[in-house]
Amino acid sequence: MKTYVVPQEITDANSLEQKLELLKHIGRSFSVYRIDCGSCNGCEIEIFAAITPMWDPERFGFKLVANPRHADILLCTGPVTRQMYYPLLRAYEAAPDPKIVVALGACGATGGIFYDAYSVLSGIDKIIPVDVYIPGCPPHPASIIYGLTTALGVMEQRLQKVSFEHDSEMPPLVKDSVIGN
Ligand code: SF4
Repeated sequence: MKTYVVPQEITDANSLEQKLELLKHIGRSFSVYRIDCGSCNGCEIEIFAAITPMWDPERFGFKLVANPRHADILLCTGPVTRQMYYPLLRAYEAAPDPKIVVALGACGATGGIFYDAYSVLSGIDKIIPVDVYIPGCPPHPASIIYGLTTALGVMEQRLQKVSFEHDSEMPPLVKDSVIGN
């Protein structure tokens, strides 16, 4: 079963504006960009296990993307090393709003066993805001999928908020300027 995050119900099947709104959110809601901020690769291996047909995250609509500009969810493995500080910040700034940050593993949450290493700064949340933590060292693929579906709940709330703000501030763009009514 495929699930989509839809910020508002489609009340009028003939409304171009509502169809465009639906398409926009279907396209943006499930793209996951993976950032390895300096992990031992244990968490990375479990991510790759989680995206195999055995666990099949695409049944929920999750797909890995190669560019943070296309991402809705940033899946970060830690700890954050000094070398990865700026790449992490650049990826966060490149991802369009609203975006969800997921910290994976003990190292993503706190720095884990590498916390005191000379090359390590911290866990993910000392650098960028984190919305969902997935515990474990490394987390099981089922935990990773559960964490991503939890992130969808956060995403849904954020989309509703953005949709409301958008509705309250903007004139009816599609109706007036595109269709020309
Ligand atoms: Fe490696 Fe465990 Fe840290 Fe993941 S949480 S990067 S598996 S040490």
